[in-house]
Amino acid sequence: MIPTLGPLEKCGTFTVKSFYKFLIDGGTRSPLYPLFWKIRCPSKITLLSWLAGEDKILTLSNIFKKGCNFQHSTDTCVLCHNSSETLQHLFIDCEFSKRIWAFFYHSLDSSSLPQSIPYLWTSWIPSLAPQSQPLWDLVSRAILWNIWLERNSRIFQLLALPQLSTIFKTVNMLLSWFPTVADRHQQSLTEASQKSSVL
Ligand SMILES: [Zn+2]
Repeated sequence: MIPTLGPLEKCGTFTVKSFYKFLIDGGTRSPLYPLFWKIRCPSKITLLSWLAGEDKILTLSNIFKKGCNFQHSTDTCVLCHNSSETLQHLFIDCEFSKRIWAFFYHSLDSSSLPQSIPYLWTSWIPSLAPQSQPLWDLVSRAILWNIWLERNSRIFQLLALPQLSTIFKTVNMLLSWFPTVADRHQQSLTEASQKSSVL
């Protein structure tokens, strides 16, 4: 049960399904994300992206602010060990994450990179050329998802893989989503896949 949300099912119980419906409804009503839930992307990845855009991710910084007991004694980022793990740091400012964004920036000939997660879908993607927006919407979701998985792996499994592993997983995830994005982007991603496998 999540007290702040109240009972989401008629019977008064909380379920993942009811929570997901709640989020979809909230997203539909939000003027910030009119098309957010309509992009063809696994729902768990869209859910993480939505939570990140709303700054509702349980980063180490947020967990420590809430005073929750946690297996980590600090809120230091497990990807770089140089800063507090805030939303902005984890997905944008961290050197680990920066290099992943930079890889796709160069591979896909982007004109810019997002400067903050809350404005990623509301300002940055709409600022891109219309033909690039669907691709970068999916690229952003895949990057966030794979950064999150690597972060979780380091925290909960004590298993750390190099950045190239995250890049490789992100590229292959994007390729598996075709033809969700236009075919003309497939060559760029295929080349990026080949590049990531030999780096
Ligand atoms: Zn970091």
